[in-house]
Order: sequence, then C-alpha cells, then structure tokens
Amino acid sequence: MEYSPENSHRGPMSADIPYTDQYRIINLPQRHRVASGFCRVTKYRRCRVCEKPDWCGYTTDEQTSICMRISNGSKGISRNGGNIFHHNRLFLVANHRPNRRQALPPIAIVPIEIRNAVYEELFRRSPVLRYYSQLIDGPNGLLSRGLCQPEIQNYGALPRTHKERASLARALNKFVMLRFPMYASRRTHAAIVGVPGFWQDDTGNVQLWKPRNYNIPLLVIPYRDDKGRIQACQLRLHKSEVSHSQKKYRWLACPFPFRGASSGTPIHFTFKPADLPPVKTVVITEGALKADILVSLRPKAHVVATSGVSCSHAEIIHAVRPYNALIAFDADYKTNPVVARQLARLIAGRERDIVIHQLSTTTKIVCWQTGKGIDDAVLANSPLETMTILEWFSTLEGKILAEVKRAWNEANYHPWISLIKK
Ligand SMILES: [Zn+2]
Repeated sequence: MEYSPENSHRGPMSADIPYTDQYRIINLPQRHRVASGFCRVTKYRRCRVCEKPDWCGYTTDEQTSICMRISNGSKGISRNGGNIFHHNRLFLVANHRPNRRQALPPIAIVPIEIRNAVYEELFRRSPVLRYYSQLIDGPNGLLSRGLCQPEIQNYGALPRTHKERASLARALNKFVMLRFPMYASRRTHAAIVGVPGFWQDDTGNVQLWKPRNYNIPLLVIPYRDDKGRIQACQLRLHKSEVSHSQKKYRWLACPFPFRGASSGTPIHFTFKPADLPPVKTVVITEGALKADILVSLRPKAHVVATSGVSCSHAEIIHAVRPYNALIAFDADYKTNPVVARQLARLIAGRERDIVIHQLSTTTKIVCWQTGKGIDDAVLANSPLETMTILEWFSTLEGKILAEVKRAWNEANYHPWISLIKK
C-alpha cells in the first residue's frame, strides 16, 4: 500500500492501525520493505521530526513520518491532522537502528469477551478499594475528584511491586485456562498473553505491566465499549512517579519490548447506545476517568471519551452520530494551538458526518471559566455555557484562531461562509 493522506486511516493514534506490522519488516533488507501500515513512535523508536517518544507516527516502510508537533517543512497534513514528512533513503540508512528484540511477529489481542472477563477478574482480585488511603481518600484521591462510591467499585489497582503483579498475572492466567479451556488449549503462549498488559518473560513466567516497583499502587481505569464491556484499561501513575515530560496516564499494554498485545486507543462509553434513543444529547470529553466523574456529578449525563484530543476521532463521530453532541474538551485549547487544532478537526469531522448522513442533529461546544476539565468545572460549580460552533469560533483570537482556521481550511469546512452571507 502506498502512503497518502487518503489511505492513512485516521493517523498513528487510531485504534485499528496495524502499527505492530513493523515486526515483520524491521530486519529485512531495504529493498524488501513494503509499506503495510503505521507504527506509533515509542521511546525505543522516537519521532524522527520532533524526537519525542509519543503522539507521532511513521509508516512501516520508514519512508514517512507523521509528526503531531512540528509543521515547518512538512509536505502536507495527514487525516489525523499530523504533519507529513517524507524521508530520503540516505537519512534512513544513517538513522535506522533495528532493535533485534522486536524482530518477532506481533501478539494479537484476544477477543473482547476474554479481555472483559480478565479485567473484571483483575478488578475483583485487586480492587482500588484495597488502597483506600493512597488512591481514594486524600487530596489527589478519587473522592476529591468527584467520583462517587458506587463508581469507585468499578475501578481496579495494580500493586506496587513487580512480584505482586506477577502473582496476579499467574492467578489470572489460571482463570483464563479454567474459564476458557478451549481457547487456552489452542494457544502457543500462556493463556493470558494477548490480553493487553500481560506478557511472558524469557523463562516463561507470566507478567503484568512493567518489571519495576513503584512507591504507590497504580489506578486502573476501565475503557468500556458500547455494550459496557471492558475493552482496555488505562493506568494512572502517581505524579511523584513520573517526570515532567512523561505522561501520567498510560494504556495498560506492554507491546515494547515485552511482547504483549497492544491495546489500541479505544473510546469509552458511560452508557449503552442501544438504551439511549436518537436525538438525545451526548457529551464528548477526553479521558474515561473524567467521563465517569462527570456522570457521578451529573447522573443524567451520557458521555463518550477519547483517550486523548488527537485520538479516535472517527470512532467518536460514529458513536455520537444519532445524537446531539456537546463537545467538552479541556480548556487548554484556549492556550495550546495543537489542542485547538484537534478540537477544530473533531468539529469539522462531526459536521461533515452530519452532512453525509443528512442528519438534523446539533453540535455545540461547552465552555467554562474555572478548571481545566469539565469535571473540574462542575465540581467547582462553575457555570457551563454551551455555544454554537460559530459562537465558539467568534470567541477565538490570535494563534488559536489562526490554527482553527487552518484546520478547517484543510478539512474544507467553512462555517463562516454562512456568517458572511447573513
Ligand atoms: Zn513528532
């Protein structure tokens, strides 16, 4: 497959991108490499444009980078709003350092039924309630964020030590063998391998998450699908355990270098669309924890969440298609052009979807004065204001306005034309 913005799927961060295809090509001579998909950058293979270990992507043939941060000198815009850079061969030869440990076929993710059962059992055996003082109570605890008690029972935690997590992994491996014996008997790896987060070390022992110890247990946040099943989980590391440049929220998955399955970047539902009639209103936000907190504070809200502003736009747009949408992304779009651009792309994508499907659903933007996320605003009793797309657009200025205009021009979406006509 040749790369072009048209066949780029939805960019490096989308859920269904076969980025693990890199395993198949990485040790082949240059002439054998064929582009067959995308890879996400990692700390083992950083972005060749901005040199950061996250957010950006590249084609498996190493010919093209999609940088989410730097636009200077790019050859165009990919479908996920990233900047396209083509590399020449010389650059590739000089920079290509294959990691021998990655030269094996990727681990396929297990079916949703097994993933859901394993994560439910993980939460049963290692509930967040076990770490009340560290994760629930206190200044950064779930209660202070606004998550209510019944919802807290649906959250898990990973023990601090590598050893305790390995013991959980063994127990859950047995659980899969007992609960899904037919499935387990067909596996060439341990039964649990293929559930993101689990992997098998060189001596055959099953492991859960990375082989290191933490000072504080890790919160496990479920990402539920449209039927309420846990399709993947995110971890929240305590802020004392991550450096300034590292992310606090991580997918529970260890594809590199431990050879576990990748989680993809699924979206999270706080409700079952089958139970919610069309033309009701759904809130779109960023992060499953935020979505759950919002529902705790406003029990009538129906919320879907992406794992990040640039992730899974197509999935979100599909999920909210029958509904009126309230987009409630974090307030940092007001100061961060990169975030503003992603918000603009989502709006343009949603509006295009409405036109294509000839719908009469509405799209509004939620704004507030206090706090970063909508959950912070609701918790602080800050009034929520909903704006039409044009009202929102008219509040923008400077770099943010320019970035939104640029994104909408690229998407061939021009809502201001109707403004001029009026
Ligand atoms: Zn980059």
